[in-house]
Amino acid sequence: MPGDTGHGAIRGRTPGPEVVPVTPERERRELDAAIRRVVQRNACIGCGLCTQLDTSLRLELDADGFLRPHRSDAPGVVAPDARRQFERSCPGCRVDAARPRGSRRDATMGSSFGVWEAWASDEVVRRRGSSGGALTALHGWLLDQGRASAIAAASVGREPRRTVPVTILSKEDALAAAGSRYAPVGVLADPALASCDAITGKPCEISAIRSLGSTARSDGPAHPGDAGGPLLLSFFCAGTPSQRATDDLLARLGVGADERVDDLWYRGRGWPGRFTVRADGRDGSLSYEESWGEVLGRATNWRCKVCADGVGESADVVAADFWRIDDRGYPVFTEGPGSSALIARTRRGLEAVLAAQAAGAIVLRPITMSALANVQPLQRNRRTTLFGRLMGSRLAGVPGPRYRGFRLWALALRHPRQNLRAARGTRARLRRAAAPTTGSAP
Ligand SMILES: Cc1cc2nc3c(=O)[nH]c(=O)nc-3n(C[C@H](O)[C@H](O)[C@H](O)COP(=O)(O)OP(=O)(O)OC[C@H]3O[C@@H](n4cnc5c(N)ncnc54)[C@H](O)[C@@H]3O)c2cc1C
Repeated sequence: MPGDTGHGAIRGRTPGPEVVPVTPERERRELDAAIRRVVQRNACIGCGLCTQLDTSLRLELDADGFLRPHRSDAPGVVAPDARRQFERSCPGCRVDAARPRGSRRDATMGSSFGVWEAWASDEVVRRRGSSGGALTALHGWLLDQGRASAIAAASVGREPRRTVPVTILSKEDALAAAGSRYAPVGVLADPALASCDAITGKPCEISAIRSLGSTARSDGPAHPGDAGGPLLLSFFCAGTPSQRATDDLLARLGVGADERVDDLWYRGRGWPGRFTVRADGRDGSLSYEESWGEVLGRATNWRCKVCADGVGESADVVAADFWRIDDRGYPVFTEGPGSSALIARTRRGLEAVLAAQAAGAIVLRPITMSALANVQPLQRNRRTTLFGRLMGSRLAGVPGPRYRGFRLWALALRHPRQNLRAARGTRARLRRAAAPTTGSAP
């Protein structure tokens, strides 16, 4: 029944070569089983990729406050080879490091064609942004130039305690979506995703959509971002905190579970800015150290703790905080004018960054990759010790996703003691916890 199946997730993609002639019911059963395996290993990040492969799947919060796919009663279409595409693209199954030809490679920060300190030229955008407002400035510039008419991203929900996927259609929308949301949201669950010319999302979302694009192409190049499809923007990511962590912060600020919240932002409006809730005409706030350091950063998804790609290797352009550091090499969070780092990961990303600078949308100052690695201790250390953590996790009976091309073993050989310690610690923690598995699957 061909009319019941075909479903294009990314605009411009061509059908793959091996369309397996199975019924939609069987395809759905196989997809559900594959999703269940990921959820049972607690490797689901709630990105929403599977909802693009089967439109009757929805993301819902589980008891631990993380998004997981659930089958709804709504009629939907399932892609003809949904299970195969899922297993090749779901970041709970597999993530590939991108190594575009001609790029330089840093073992912990990934591939690049250029790296800069950057901020939005517009002071309002710079202040509103999470760090330097560079991504928001790029969004505005893409729309201004007609390079994009719709951009998928994330922003505050109608119920401001929640974070939702949004489609940015104007500079006003871009400004409204500025700032990091440290809470579960699946950008790839946006029903309008297929009509977006650019996508901004977490590294796992971007690697998923990049692989989905390449699995669906019959004759695609080694790195499809160089040859069309939506421009992919991302940011460094330490992990997605549970929705419960937001509830905890509200409780600390004396906002009850039933109380109406008018607005809520995690940072930005300064750098790093404060976690702020507006309720009953009053603002309550906590510093970045109190909100991220004491609550949000401790409540991240298990999958994020074994993530090889917190640095957005599959994006065309990726942003990060360009923190100032103290004498011991730790970031300092004193308020100041925001500063992002920008990395062009593809030639297409390089062209976009330089064109945005030429148009006056962003200010750039070249930096070295080692200068960036210096101010990103979490990303550097997580990748350096990941081989050990994955081994520990496997020994405890919880295999992580497959990571290809990251050369984690080479980092482990250079840092054997830290990796051994990480392996032992992870195995012990997982055994104590019995199993980190939570949530149900479709
Ligand atoms: C969960 C999380 C963890 C992070 N961890 C790190 C880290 O370890 N190191 C680091 O340097 N930076 C981290 N960041 C990124 C950092 O906070 C800034 O977003 C980044 O420096 C870009 O800043 P900017 O001012 O250029 O972006 P902005 O101009 O503020 O634009 C941010 C864009 O990101 C989108 N966005 C916000 N939250 C989400 C979300 N949850 N999912 C998908 N899209 C979203 C928004 O729609 C907006 O368009 C993290 C961000 C998040 C959301």
